[in-house]
Amino acid sequence: MNPTENSKNAYIEASKYFPGGVNSPVRAFKNVGGNPLFIDHGKGSHIFDIDGNEYVDYVLSWGPLILGHADDEVVKELKGAVEKGTSYGAPTTLETDLAKMITSIVPSIEMMRMVSSGTEATMSAIRLARGFTNREKILKFVGNYHGHSDSLLVDAGSGVATFDINTSPGVPKDLAYDTYTVAYNDIDAVKELFDNHGDEIACAIVEPIAGNMGVIPGTQAFLDTLRSETTKHGSLLIFDEVMSGFRAAFHGAQSLYNITPDLTTLGKVVGGGLPVGVFGGRKDIMSEITPAGKIYHAGTLSGNPLAMTGGISTLKQLNDDLYAQMIGKVDTLTEGIKKVADQNNVPITVHHVGTMWSYFFNAGPVNNFADVQKSDQKFFAKFFNELIKQGIYTAPSEFETNFMTSKHTDGDIQKTITAFDVAMKKLR
Ligand code: PLP
Repeated sequence: MNPTENSKNAYIEASKYFPGGVNSPVRAFKNVGGNPLFIDHGKGSHIFDIDGNEYVDYVLSWGPLILGHADDEVVKELKGAVEKGTSYGAPTTLETDLAKMITSIVPSIEMMRMVSSGTEATMSAIRLARGFTNREKILKFVGNYHGHSDSLLVDAGSGVATFDINTSPGVPKDLAYDTYTVAYNDIDAVKELFDNHGDEIACAIVEPIAGNMGVIPGTQAFLDTLRSETTKHGSLLIFDEVMSGFRAAFHGAQSLYNITPDLTTLGKVVGGGLPVGVFGGRKDIMSEITPAGKIYHAGTLSGNPLAMTGGISTLKQLNDDLYAQMIGKVDTLTEGIKKVADQNNVPITVHHVGTMWSYFFNAGPVNNFADVQKSDQKFFAKFFNELIKQGIYTAPSEFETNFMTSKHTDGDIQKTITAFDVAMKKLR
């Protein structure tokens, strides 16, 4: 590996302009030490930093790039789109084309709105739920992350957990007060909350497969309880599938559990690496949005033609066979990791659902945020850096998820398993 001098200098320069040198906190590598790698380009399953080092990438822009970097077809369609114009602030048929694809893949989304990020999608879905039910309280789960809007930055996962912030300074107390939080997978706590406050709760928002405290699947009984309690009390159930959509399964986590939420939020894969978020669901609820109804939602770049093209050119390449192949690769990789951890006597818990996978230096079980917190973060930091030295780029926090693409090769996977083995031998 070349020294990462260029990245180091780029980071010093960037830090003059951006707090912490980055435009999103976990990119800074602050919790694992050292400086972030500045990326020059990517192709398929590999990225290349500005010092000329090559890495097998499992971060993949935090999930969107299910076809890998610079997929030929996606690049070709984007080039065609950019030549026609970048934004009109008027409708294009591309929006309807993408909407039709989404509805056919996730049928509970009968009607939707396009936005430009996952944060916008969840924020807008919460407002819609509050407006539709005429209630103010919401329920979220400890360690679930739904973006950085005020109501949702309470006991959140992802960067909020990595940097050990409970509720961000700046979130008004009243908004935090309106957000009930309960431990993930805790059925009794959900029932108790609904027994006591059910008629005040506008909605429960949940990651059905949590991906912002590493990968932790919701249990069937937990999600069934959420569905029945919200229905019983006239609250809405929002599945936040910004990460799990097109990742946990082609048809989303909701297809794995056979549960129909009232609203769903999507992001990441749905834009194929361009900024797209979606919120949608039951037609009677979505029809309350302006100008059809009175609940306000808008966006200068919502449904942007380039972003729509990123989504269309990605989704049209997805199919059940491709998922079977990607899941096979995740199985091989995670089995290999467990095997070398066993051989090296390193306590580890490896979780994977669909094309999402993560590992905790923790003998397990890991079923909620409190369990993740018991993992050995110091060992993780050293381990992450050893993997980097061997050309393997994984998520720089145990509170994040790794992903798989259609482009990862058997060679990539064997190289990764060997790197885990070498790092464990060195550090255990
Ligand atoms: N919801 C979930 C489940 C996420 O994982 C994320 C981002 O990681 C978001 C919402 C926020 O999406 P964005 O970062 O695009 O605003």
